[in-house]
Amino acid sequence: MKFEDLNLLKNIQHALADQGYEAPTPIQAQAIPIILEDTDLVGCAQTGTGKTAAFAIPILNQLHRIVGSAKKVKYIRTLIITPTRELALQIGESFDTYGKYTNVRQLTIFGGVNQVPQTDQLKKGVDVLIATPGRLLDLYKQGFINLDHLHHLVLDEADQMLDMGFIHDVKKIVKLTPDNRQTLLFSATMPMAIRELADTFLTNPKYVSV
Ligand code: AMP
Repeated sequence: MKFEDLNLLKNIQHALADQGYEAPTPIQAQAIPIILEDTDLVGCAQTGTGKTAAFAIPILNQLHRIVGSAKKVKYIRTLIITPTRELALQIGESFDTYGKYTNVRQLTIFGGVNQVPQTDQLKKGVDVLIATPGRLLDLYKQGFINLDHLHHLVLDEADQMLDMGFIHDVKKIVKLTPDNRQTLLFSATMPMAIRELADTFLTNPKYVSV
């Protein structure tokens, strides 16, 4: 399979060609069509499989149509929850790389640093918010984050969030998002608690595993 077979917008395909990507990885080939048709997804995949691009590419493809010109008012349309600052920054870089020919703007927020640069960016408006759970809830409680216009919710590295004790925060965050969202859950392993999370918060999900 080639990226041309996935019905992606030309400006996304150009960004992938700039990266020298020739073909989708197995998780990308399976997940991208499902995400493009607005279906919920559970993806069982490790880091290193191309998992980040598997959700970033179709999300950018959908956001490009919604976001349109650079001048439009921005709302958070995509929220990605991930366990660590390092993962959050990597995901942010991926959105910048694959979205370089779109007007989609991403912001990464995480704890342990001054919140003011983060809240300044939130006030300007972002389309994609990538966050660790604690800082997301903290800034939400302070009124800096509005999730009413959310389309996609991504729970990344769900098993690691469980291991790190974030599962309660994750459940709180999901409850702050609109019911008609599209939810994508990625995890390297599928322990019972993650299956339960998927059963509770995803609607008729498709499962892919690599
Ligand atoms: P991830 O599993 O998301 O951490 O991605 C692992 C690495 O694979 C990253 O450095 C990506 O830049 C790279 N990558 C992702 N998709 C592709 C692809 N289709 N072709 C070549 N490299 C890729």
